[in-house]
Amino acid sequence: MAGTKALLMLENFIDGKFLPCSSYIDSYDPSTGEVYCRVPNSGKDEIEAAVKAAREAFPGWSSRSPQERSRVLNQVADLLEQSLEEFAQAESKDQGKTLALARTMDIPRSVQNFRFFASSILHHTSECTQMDHLGCMHYTVRAPVGVAGLISPWNLPLYLLTWKIAPAIAAGNTVVAKPSELTSVTAWMLCTLLDKAGFPHPASCLQRQKGATAGVPPGVVNIVFGTGPRVGEALVSHPEVPLISFTGSQPTAERITQLSAPHCKKLSLELGGKNPAIIFEDANLDECIPATVRSSFANQGEICLCTSRIFVQKSIYTEFLKRFVEATRKWKVGIPSDPLASMGALISKAHLEKVRSYVKRALAEGAQIWCGEGVDKLNLPARSQAGYFMLPTVITDIKDESCCMTEEIFGPVTCVVPFDSEEEVIERANNVKYGLAATVWSSNVGRVHRVAKKLQSGLVWTNCWLIRELNLPFGGMKSSGIGREGAKDSYDFFTEIKTITVKH
Ligand code: NAD
Repeated sequence: MAGTKALLMLENFIDGKFLPCSSYIDSYDPSTGEVYCRVPNSGKDEIEAAVKAAREAFPGWSSRSPQERSRVLNQVADLLEQSLEEFAQAESKDQGKTLALARTMDIPRSVQNFRFFASSILHHTSECTQMDHLGCMHYTVRAPVGVAGLISPWNLPLYLLTWKIAPAIAAGNTVVAKPSELTSVTAWMLCTLLDKAGFPHPASCLQRQKGATAGVPPGVVNIVFGTGPRVGEALVSHPEVPLISFTGSQPTAERITQLSAPHCKKLSLELGGKNPAIIFEDANLDECIPATVRSSFANQGEICLCTSRIFVQKSIYTEFLKRFVEATRKWKVGIPSDPLASMGALISKAHLEKVRSYVKRALAEGAQIWCGEGVDKLNLPARSQAGYFMLPTVITDIKDESCCMTEEIFGPVTCVVPFDSEEEVIERANNVKYGLAATVWSSNVGRVHRVAKKLQSGLVWTNCWLIRELNLPFGGMKSSGIGREGAKDSYDFFTEIKTITVKH
């Protein structure tokens, strides 16, 4: 329970107002293991109020021009950018990630999400076809869907939440969002900015439509905090929420699919991965090794796109492993504010125990642990001894069928295994239920294209990792999800299309 320090108390944001809740849940600082914040434990009543507010705001917001919505999104982006440091500090404390990563990735990308959709909403066109022999033309129109339900995870809290809010409201929907109960702070801080966001120049007021007020009008974005089973399910089951955009785990997606089925809801599901890196003998190891350390351990390995199976061609296996382990040992674990730390704390005690249990299972199966868990010692200050830290861990001598090679671990653990041929490695890389992201390392251009095409994966990076082009589709195959997100894909998801035929 709480210590003597005053705890940060969050409130729901419904209809433009911050509202207290009748009950709260504790939220922990992952770097100390102490409770530092209390998150509303909302339920059906709060969802009912939020959906009502969103429904009432929909006619006004959806009838604004894209240009006007775009201006509001840009204003939110500007305000967020002005508060970048404050948000980065909060994200790092709440999630356990390094402050450096929050400063350079999470918050800048959240700013970019608003700017990107503020711009892309202005550039969509619709299709038109002619049937002159029948005197007809056909065209399509798109309209926002209504109240969008948005559910996001704890690994990239504001980054993934804004990747949903921005396209949803840019397209004219209103939203009820539920961030992860483990990382709710930056979402709550965002509500204050939404309240402030207005029209940047007096001149633009002239272009405002009648009845429009400055800022994101009350009810356009509602954020309700709490747990998945309580408030998440209330949102997903609500009959007046026709669309759910969810990022999280596969078991939760299964439950959301079941709850949505009676209402035929539009679903976008961005789920987990078991992402392979395939390293051919002609790879540039000077580039590949640091990039693969990063792809395995960035954000404590808590990114859905992180590498967790490394296939290395036999002729370079020994050299790769030696250099990879050396580089991993230099990947420093430290308290989130340590400027030299590459990795901070994992999200929770339960998650840390789960990740560690995979290493134990690998050992029991006869695998070898080269560095990290059980091999090396953590070096942390006294006040972080109860934090959820773990060293980056490299496993070898493990079978493809092992749970460490088939299940998503979502922590700083990666397996390295040898392969002989191109055909063999494609088959082995594809032989898991997931299909989110893969990396291929080779200097043979023909091979790079061939392998990328055959991998069952929504994203393939070759000779690089995590270079994102927001215009193009993002998402996974197989159990990694349904649907894609990006400029056109998000627009398609957050709108309904209609075909109109006119006979003249
Ligand atoms: P999770 O599924 O436990 O939770 C995600 C969100 O769903 C949280 O807000 C949670 O409260 C909510 N939720 C939980 N149960 C629910 C229910 N019954 N009904 C409605 N909502 C419910 O996932 P997590 O542990 O927060 O996140 C980690 C997972 O997310 C990993 O599997 C990771 O790969 C995945 N992920 C995927 C992507 C992607 O873009 N594909 C990105 C980031 C994370």
